[in-house]
Amino acid sequence: MPFEIVCNNCGISLYSGIDLKYPSNILKLYNGRCKKCGEALSLRDFMTEVIPIER
Ligand SMILES: [Zn+2]
Repeated sequence: MPFEIVCNNCGISLYSGIDLKYPSNILKLYNGRCKKCGEALSLRDFMTEVIPIER
């Protein structure tokens, strides 16, 4: 099941795929900012968008 990490501010998809990635790693990838709108992203915001898939 694919999952997606979306910017809370502009709604752009920062990551989507079938591999579950830690939101903190995505944050690091973009230096903690949205690549489109430049909004500072907090880990807490990310967590509202990500549904970890655990067995
Ligand atoms: Zn954004």
